[in-house]
Amino acid sequence: MHEIYGGSDSSICGHYQSILKANGIPSYIRNENAALLTELQGPAFYPVLCVDSIEDYESAMALLKPIYEAAKTPVNDAEWTCTCGATVPGNFDNCWQCGAEKDI
Ligand SMILES: [Zn+2]
Repeated sequence: MHEIYGGSDSSICGHYQSILKANGIPSYIRNENAALLTELQGPAFYPVLCVDSIEDYESAMALLKPIYEAAKTPVNDAEWTCTCGATVPGNFDNCWQCGAEKDI
């Protein structure tokens, strides 16, 4: 068994698993329901996306690494909407239309 990804957010595991499935790589999620069964929280209870063979592991990592890296890109790169109604690219801290600062 080889662990691909583990984290507190089971939706990410599910997302990655669906990508692997779409590419014909068999995988499963360990601890998928553990968080629902216990009051205990912590890494030992996080869902972990796993594959059985090293070949699948290497394919899975090659497939998911760019997606994982992209997901780490700061969220504040997302567009934001100014109070004046303008849609401003995330790398702008001030509105291009009225000059107001980004309101976080
Ligand atoms: Zn504005």
